[in-house]
Amino acid sequence: MTGPSGLKLLALAFLVSAPSTPVHAQQSAPPPPKRVAIRAGRLIDCKSDASISNALILIEGDKILSVTPGGPPPPGVELIDLSKATVLPGFVDAHTHVLLQGDITAEDYDKQLLKQSIPYRAILGARNAQIALSHGFTALRDLETEGAMYADVDVKQAIANGEVPGPRMQVATRAMTPTGMYGPLGYSWEIRVPQGVQYVDGAEEARKAVREQVMFGADRIKYYSDHGYFYGPDGVLHSHVNFTDEEAKAIVDETHRIGKKAAAHAIGSDGVAAALRAGVDTIEHGDGLTGPQMEEMARRGIYWVPTIAVGAYVASGRQGNWPKMVDTEKAAFQLALKKGVKIVLGTDAGGFDWRELNEAKEFEYYVAYGMTPLQAIHSATTTAAELLGWSDKMGTVEAGKWADLVAVSGDPLKDITELQRVKFVMKSGTVFKNELQ
Ligand SMILES: [Zn+2]
Repeated sequence: MTGPSGLKLLALAFLVSAPSTPVHAQQSAPPPPKRVAIRAGRLIDCKSDASISNALILIEGDKILSVTPGGPPPPGVELIDLSKATVLPGFVDAHTHVLLQGDITAEDYDKQLLKQSIPYRAILGARNAQIALSHGFTALRDLETEGAMYADVDVKQAIANGEVPGPRMQVATRAMTPTGMYGPLGYSWEIRVPQGVQYVDGAEEARKAVREQVMFGADRIKYYSDHGYFYGPDGVLHSHVNFTDEEAKAIVDETHRIGKKAAAHAIGSDGVAAALRAGVDTIEHGDGLTGPQMEEMARRGIYWVPTIAVGAYVASGRQGNWPKMVDTEKAAFQLALKKGVKIVLGTDAGGFDWRELNEAKEFEYYVAYGMTPLQAIHSATTTAAELLGWSDKMGTVEAGKWADLVAVSGDPLKDITELQRVKFVMKSGTVFKNELQ
């Protein structure tokens, strides 16, 4: 619209709209953020090694304002009494699939991709996010949608917009393998079935796929480094590597070039070796990790997300090498602890039905495999926050951090299974669950 008549019209539009300006737009500054205080009988703040008795946590809006040993709340501030409970920072599950409902067998998997629409799966994804939050997981790194395209971005956004309750999320969207290296497979070539990942061939396609996934909302890039796991005569868990080194390096290089982090699914030692050559930031699963690989990871600060619970859960249903892989991973975990690998708690929830297993079962395995309870807690709080790049915002209970808190009745430093019975959950200063009052 140009010229005098256009300007007149604009002026008229202004005159007409001005008197009807909504009342709320005329109000001055918004009310100050709400303050609330929590009395914690015992606080594991993940900052110091000792727990604090009778701590007072003051929260303003979505952040922690102060943490003090004892003392009364400021006058007029609502007090949440958790004086008989242990309070901890909210947990992180660094490896989930909210769009998946368990895939012990290929049939379980194919059924979801072939018979459920992506909108239906997204609804279940929102439900699963809510289950995770009710178990005390206030943040998730969701590592690919298993054929549900970019629906993880939608689940994340709906939570961030306050439309549905759930953890804060970092999402990986579609993940990648070369053509034919990921299911659903085995269907007639005359039928086009949905793919569980984005097929990518060649370095140029790899770079384009990274750009495309980031354009549509990926916070992280994930690719499958290997498949087909088998034991060699050397007793090591081996695997078939998916991408050429040139392709894998292109994925990781492009990811880093645009300021993101790359995760590699790598179960056998060959898949781990290829992922380390490519320069990934995290190794997912890693059952077949060897001693020298662990040393390299410790040296380069590469995180290991072992996902023990899912391996044990699917082993009996899958048979083959899977039951033996549980023992292999246990030995790897014990060695990695000694070698100082940064271990972050991840469960692969979605690989099991979200309704059947509480992800906090993962803590129990870590302690059974040799971590102290406090080390296990750090794997889902401080070290996980570091992996997410959110150390300045979460992972400990201290002033300035997000008010993401959980509470349990007993002492998890004495009995780690307490973490499977979370009674109180707060996220961003809002109480989501409270069975303690
Ligand atoms: Zn997974």
